[in-house]
Amino acid sequence: MNSSPVSRGQLIELNIYDLNNKGEGVGRYHGFTVFVPGTAAGDQVTASVLSVQKTYARALLHSVLHASDCRVTPPCVHHGACGGCQLQHLAYNEQLGLKRRLVATALQRLAGLDLAVQPVLGMADPWRYRNKAQIPVGSANGAVVTGFYAPRSHRIISMDSCLLQHPANDRAILAVREALQALAIPIYDETSHTGLVRHIMVRTSFTTGKTLLVLATNGRQLPESKQLVKMLSVSLGNLAGIVQNINTRRGNVILGNEEQLLCGLPYLEEKLGGLTFRVSSRSFLQVNTLQAEVLYAKVREYAALTGRETVFDLYCGAGTIGLYLSRQAKKVVGVEAISSAVTDARANAQINNIANTEFLQAQAEELVPKLLAGGYRAGVVVIDPPRKGCDAKLLATLTEMRPRRLIYVSCDPATLARDLRYLTNHGFAVREVQPVDMFPHTSHVETVVLMSRVEK
Ligand code: SAH
Repeated sequence: MNSSPVSRGQLIELNIYDLNNKGEGVGRYHGFTVFVPGTAAGDQVTASVLSVQKTYARALLHSVLHASDCRVTPPCVHHGACGGCQLQHLAYNEQLGLKRRLVATALQRLAGLDLAVQPVLGMADPWRYRNKAQIPVGSANGAVVTGFYAPRSHRIISMDSCLLQHPANDRAILAVREALQALAIPIYDETSHTGLVRHIMVRTSFTTGKTLLVLATNGRQLPESKQLVKMLSVSLGNLAGIVQNINTRRGNVILGNEEQLLCGLPYLEEKLGGLTFRVSSRSFLQVNTLQAEVLYAKVREYAALTGRETVFDLYCGAGTIGLYLSRQAKKVVGVEAISSAVTDARANAQINNIANTEFLQAQAEELVPKLLAGGYRAGVVVIDPPRKGCDAKLLATLTEMRPRRLIYVSCDPATLARDLRYLTNHGFAVREVQPVDMFPHTSHVETVVLMSRVEK
């Protein structure tokens, strides 16, 4: 039985009244929910149906019959073809309003928490904010192509500039593309799993303008590597270093575990909050340097340290948050799963002459229960997990440890809501919810939450 009023390929007319958590417009066609990417609340559109599920359909925008007041003309020529900016057609203020609503809705629907969410902290200039680009390399008709994948495919669409990137990242990618072409270095082919260069990763410091370049290759031997380094050093004046990362596995993971330094240093140095951080290729660094400072300042405010506290910085990456808090704490213990990030974190303590921090390599959910069992606890805990949120074992341990303050930094409102539901049912109360716009023009939302333990 087909109960939906739409079918694949059908052209429908509908009014968009809201956006979902992927930034797609939501409309109803004869009462049936239809998602249309690239639309705004208040739009009247025609769209062709791409797929039909039980409770909703997805459709491709065909034409805008009446444009919403929220719309602006997207400045990027790739907008629409590139899936990177889901919200570029919305005025920036609208984007911020939407993100605030998305957080409130997730907390309400998934955690039953009716909370006042603070207005999103946005950017004064929300362009060219990314310090990092990861770009696939391919070839088409004998030419090297770098760009982005066409939606729902691995066909690379050529792109010379991305308005979200630091200009030095754009320049570095172009320079690599030209050098690969000039030296006829083999390009990776995903289908046959042959060829060599598969991805370019670049990271640029906003304080020094230096760039760390990483070439991910399907194999160790890189022909013409000396010549390649020479060409890139000439065309890119401000290189921190060039790293070859060897990744011979099939699949979407960009970086492998083995690296070879081709020139310079194997890490980039960046300044945040007056501290210097070195970050190597596989260590996490918030992609929006300016907003990382806004985020960390909020974490510091929420931590309200007096100098007497032990702080746990869980999922600590290169130690950024813990080191940032260390001057106001008695002691900071960072826990991080990736060993190169832990190495960076320890080096970062040294670079900044910080002696009251300790960084441990482990899964937080494995180590923190052991620390607690050993009588080791913290008065303030910061958790900053990846999108999937915290492991249940870690949450259970935190409710047993009962830190005075618990600060949750989240990049996914859905898993944040799931974890807050548990924490608020087990002795913590949410004090404040503050989204920070780390990813303007995309549907991604970053949130900092202050919780405190409820006294029994
Ligand atoms: N707080 C840091 C990093 C946050 S990103 C910053 O602001 O820069 C999340 C980090 O968690 C990554 O570095 C990732 O390697 C690490 N991670 C992922 N799963 C983990 C786990 N189970 N235990 C500890 N660290 C983990």
